[in-house]
Amino acid sequence: MTTIGILDLQGDVSEHLEITKRTLDKMGVEARVSKVKTASEVAECDGIIISGGESTVIGKLMKETGVLDVIIKQNIPVMGTCAGMVLLSKESDYEQPLLGLIDIKVRRNGFGRQRASFEDEIEIFGGNYKGVFIRAPYALEAGEGVDVLAKLDDKIVAVAYKHHIATAFHPELTDDTKIHEYFIKEVLKCVE
Ligand code: GLN
Repeated sequence: MTTIGILDLQGDVSEHLEITKRTLDKMGVEARVSKVKTASEVAECDGIIISGGESTVIGKLMKETGVLDVIIKQNIPVMGTCAGMVLLSKESDYEQPLLGLIDIKVRRNGFGRQRASFEDEIEIFGGNYKGVFIRAPYALEAGEGVDVLAKLDDKIVAVAYKHHIATAFHPELTDDTKIHEYFIKEVLKCVE
């Protein structure tokens, strides 16, 4: 059965677990969803979700546990939100372990102190969407082949590349399941 793992090293993991289950129900897709911590648990997954949290901490643990290498080696589809977006990037303005799966250059905590936490309406997949931003990064530039899905004030806040998707905002903190639906469809394409 298709298995989606929510990487449980640090961050708002339970919220992702809950919305992923809800999205699968809504789509009528039968798949297993569980929290995963170790490289061997990750190796069993068809898709991995990396939550918001502290990307420096999550990245360090991913490296130490071998999770980082397994995701890269097995080419597992990844959805990364906030800290997860930083971890998916090729380049961050901070020295930290990265997956480097999406050719974007990110600025951590990019919206600055005054906009440390905010909600804003963005446009994504042809519709309006409530973006929840918490010490969010943004991408300064996106390389060739990277699909820029959403921008806020000219800052890139959502991208897709191959079967990966990264958002600077937190879809797990809203009721809107469209970002998770997109990712689940990408995972299903890869297992078919
Ligand atoms: N600023 C955090 C980081 O770079 C991300 C914040 C979040 O995930 N809410 O790791």
